Amino acid sequence: MSGSTEVRVRVRVPAKVNVQLAVGAARADGFHDLANVFLAVGLYDEITVTPSDTLRITCEGPDVSQVPLDGTNLAARAAVALAERHGIDPRVHLHIAKDIPVAGGMAGGSADGAGALLACDTLWKLDSSQAELLDICAELGSDVPFSLLGGAALGVGRGEQLTPIDVGGGFHWVFAIADGGLSTPSVFREFDRLAEGTAVPTPVADPALLAALRTGDAVALASALTNDLQPAALSLRPSLADTLAAGTTAGALASLVSGSGPTTAFLTKDAETAQQVAEALLASGTCRTARVAPAPAPGATVVERSAR
Ligand code: ATP
Repeated sequence: MSGSTEVRVRVRVPAKVNVQLAVGAARADGFHDLANVFLAVGLYDEITVTPSDTLRITCEGPDVSQVPLDGTNLAARAAVALAERHGIDPRVHLHIAKDIPVAGGMAGGSADGAGALLACDTLWKLDSSQAELLDICAELGSDVPFSLLGGAALGVGRGEQLTPIDVGGGFHWVFAIADGGLSTPSVFREFDRLAEGTAVPTPVADPALLAALRTGDAVALASALTNDLQPAALSLRPSLADTLAAGTTAGALASLVSGSGPTTAFLTKDAETAQQVAEALLASGTCRTARVAPAPAPGATVVERSAR
């Protein structure tokens, strides 16, 4: 396709669940040190980029009214950051087909940032290295680098310093999507409030959990799942306890709040059980919808490119 001009690039980007989210005490800068084990799961947003007169964002999907369509959208910020580095005018139309719940603790905005970055890099034929793209991702937000990489990874610092983890098998998850979102900063504030007067340990990755990922052992992974933000999310949204209980009663190996919530995540032993748990969660009336998703999922991937 040498000499051709890309006129449309479509990129698919996965959601994530934190299989371990260990949170340290608030630092002087307000951030928290984390030991964050990310696993990419098969729920995807798709970002399509086409040339346009001005930078423009559109979005489709069930939560579209909660997605900002201005320069604060992470997809727009990614396009601008990449363009600035290369002295380009970011005149593109970014269309987001959104399937990842908004403000759901599954890094949907971060996924769109990583997806837009890869889509624009491809449209503008910049051929940036993965290291260059990861650098921009880290500027955009703590969860954005992982959205680009996918698979599984340990994140330390604010979560953005990533070490990939080899995963030895597939896992079957169910996600219960709640009505309305939870703001990540407010969940961290609640974490700080609940931790007041207690000694918060330094966050470290759990060796048993890392071993369970490496061997693909769902039962071992289920017994090692932890999320230090779960008490804060439950404190702000007590009804999530009913959702967690409904999934466990229906046969999940384990349940936990996904990231800062309010999405809840259920690990099951196989695809058939995942389907049953999803149906039971839906019937329980404790969530808006329930979705099955395999893991690990690949990171941001170009799925279509049309040229003239
Ligand atoms: P995380 O799991 O990384 O904490 P989240 O999944 O809880 O994030 P997001 O869906 O990323 O939350 O949305 C958080 C907020 O980010 C939204 O309420 C919205 O105001 C803003 N936002 C910016 N860009 C986007 C985007 N492309 N999609 C969704 N929300 C976006």
